[in-house]
Amino acid sequence: MTGEESGGANGRATGGTGRPLPLRMCVRCERITDEPVLVAEVHGNSGPGWNVYACPGCAPHVPAAPDPLVVLEALLQSRRGGPRR
Ligand SMILES: [Zn+2]
Repeated sequence: MTGEESGGANGRATGGTGRPLPLRMCVRCERITDEPVLVAEVHGNSGPGWNVYACPGCAPHVPAAPDPLVVLEALLQSRRGGPRR
């Protein structure tokens, strides 16, 4: 029995399988989650689109997103922080 313990050395959470966790940012609470739930798909007019994720806790509260662009726009505005002091 050695005191060797996996995890913590790299600061990376290894669940045992060693596969990288699909970290995504929740569109609602803006926290990083390793269990992203796809709540919306944004299709670009040209080029590939992207997906909008929420954490499991927020997913039920995220509206069905009739227009994902509304969600995206709200996210971008919240990032900008609005008017400066
Ligand atoms: Zn969330």
